[in-house]
Amino acid sequence: MSITVQAVRGMHDILPAQTPGWQYLEDTMRRILGAYSYDEIRFPILEKTDLFKRTIGEVTDIVEKEMYTFDDRNGESLTLRPEGTAGCVRACQENGLLHNEVRRLWYMGPMFRYERPQKGRYRQFYQIGVETFGMNGPDIDAELIMMTARLWRELGLNDLELQINSLGTAASRNEYRTHLVAYFKAHQDQLDDDSLRRLESNPLRILDSKNRDMQNLIEEAPKLFDFLDSESTLHFKQLKQLLDTAGINYKVNTRLVRGLDYYGKTVFEWVTTRLGAQGTVCAGGRYDGLVEQLGGKATPAVGFAMGVERLIALLEESSQAKVDSVDAYMVLMGDNAIKQGLLLAEQLRDASPALTLRVNCGGGSFKSQFKKADKCGARIALILGDDEVKQGVVGLKYLREDRPQQTIKWSELRSEVFD
Ligand code: ATP
Ligand code: MG
Repeated sequence: MSITVQAVRGMHDILPAQTPGWQYLEDTMRRILGAYSYDEIRFPILEKTDLFKRTIGEVTDIVEKEMYTFDDRNGESLTLRPEGTAGCVRACQENGLLHNEVRRLWYMGPMFRYERPQKGRYRQFYQIGVETFGMNGPDIDAELIMMTARLWRELGLNDLELQINSLGTAASRNEYRTHLVAYFKAHQDQLDDDSLRRLESNPLRILDSKNRDMQNLIEEAPKLFDFLDSESTLHFKQLKQLLDTAGINYKVNTRLVRGLDYYGKTVFEWVTTRLGAQGTVCAGGRYDGLVEQLGGKATPAVGFAMGVERLIALLEESSQAKVDSVDAYMVLMGDNAIKQGLLLAEQLRDASPALTLRVNCGGGSFKSQFKKADKCGARIALILGDDEVKQGVVGLKYLREDRPQQTIKWSELRSEVFD
């Protein structure tokens, strides 16, 4: 007896009924990125484990408990990428893309995290990520936010809230750290095990805890925002002015931190209340120290990543996901018609590259072929039997309009139907 093998928990098939929605989102994003002159980069899904440990931070949820890490046949530790920034920076550096140059880059693809699967949270999920290098001002931060705002407009998503915060410079975070540790030490009895451990290694991470019992304690903790140095304060002020000028609404959320260590200064999230607990659809920020940390020259950088499944869920809810349908269905009856029909279909595709034409394969009665034509959403049926072949004509039936059936010569078909 054979046993069926199922998909890995938390990893999903994206089925043909869903792919039109995915393509619509991807195409829209690709078009917008092109309009802002961003270039695509593709890099491997597997990287050396060390890359993520060094960039994301040893004491983060991702590195401590969420990575898919294994030894390859040579005993080298590899990890399925949990996010894109580290691989993108590694690829740029290795290929000399950052030498005194400004870069605006994007990528799209699957990420892997061993999390508890639930709505909007999977073990394989897709991100569209954007990273920019070589620009240190708030202007590029604003451009990224304006670009995402444009995407929401084009997708018809009009109830996303923008939250922004500043995480300051490394110096201001160090100063803050001392005060935060003192505060948590004074309330040590209320900390869970994870937080106790982080108290020494990475106290800022405690603020990111999802433990409900600790939310009050976290709410009352000193705020990093109150420890910002003048450079960060000015950067944040200018960003807010740019957003005001662009007419983009935002909320300053001084509790906003990111789950990765490398962020500083600007951080932002686009949030919805329509997806339950998994409400962040896009998250990003500035990471000026990361390139140098990976052995490169100090390079300012800022980027963001969008969770594609969460955006798709929003689009599906507001039935914005467009379904591309078939333009024409070719009904074929008889051996000769099948032979000639396949050729005629090729000629039509040559002549009209945008045409979506589905040819009936596998035979069947007229009735069953028309049923298939109707089901795939075709606007017209092209009918070819052996008589039509002999006369060099094709029957044309409108499936969605009340118009009489026509007979058209092959040579006239193109201009008659598709131009
Ligand atoms: P969260 O707080 O929801 O765990 P995060 O801070 O870990 O998010 P990032 O690493 O900033 O997320 O990733 C950017 C975006 O990718 C998130 O805002 C979210 O939309 C999406 N995302 C992250 N993890 C998952 C996941 N496990 N499943 C689906 N989407 C995800
Ligand atoms: Mg997370």
